[in-house]
Amino acid sequence: NYRCRSAFKLLEINEKHRILQPGLSVVDCGAAPGAWSQVAVEKVNSAGADPEVPTGFVIGVDLLRIAPLVGAHFLANSDVTDPATQTRLQELLPARRADVILSDMAPNASGFKEMDHERLISMCLSVLELAEKVLQPGGTFLCKCWDGGQTSLLKNKLAQSFQDIRTIKPQASRKESAEMFLLAKNYRKK
Ligand code: SAM
Repeated sequence: NYRCRSAFKLLEINEKHRILQPGLSVVDCGAAPGAWSQVAVEKVNSAGADPEVPTGFVIGVDLLRIAPLVGAHFLANSDVTDPATQTRLQELLPARRADVILSDMAPNASGFKEMDHERLISMCLSVLELAEKVLQPGGTFLCKCWDGGQTSLLKNKLAQSFQDIRTIKPQASRKESAEMFLLAKNYRKK
């Protein structure tokens, strides 16, 4: 049982796109209450549950506290967009590198659609800065965004550093929501 239904979105995306494999190192941005981290721990085997496959690593970051989870490290009370948090994250990663960066972050919605969209895009751009510091060549980036006028700006930015960009609308996202995910694969260092 997962801490939050959002787990099913990541499971669905992973089922189709195979982004989490045993042995990989994962950063989970906006991790509270921890459901995506639970999925990541299972899939990368960071708790060592399967001795037959490599053991991965999972670190989650959030402004909020996150209840402990076997196989995951958490940085609580931390803002992913803060360069100090990004440095701290890098120090905690094995060999200072991640294979996968996930972001399910969202700002508190103001109700003004375009403003919320722009705030979320700027958060995604901060996650991309983090990727430029820690992501392994060949690595994967998945972020949530709300569709709007600046989606193409974010996609174009991603296209400068990743070979393959796609837009995903999981079945598990509520029908009425403008929520979608951008999946960028095969990071090439600039
Ligand atoms: N993926 C999570 C799960 O499955 O349990 C749910 C994430 S929830 C939709 C979004 C989270 O993003 C919230 O917990 C919020 O505190 C966090 N968040 C928003 N802005 C943030 C920031 N600047 N830095 C870190 N976390 C942030």
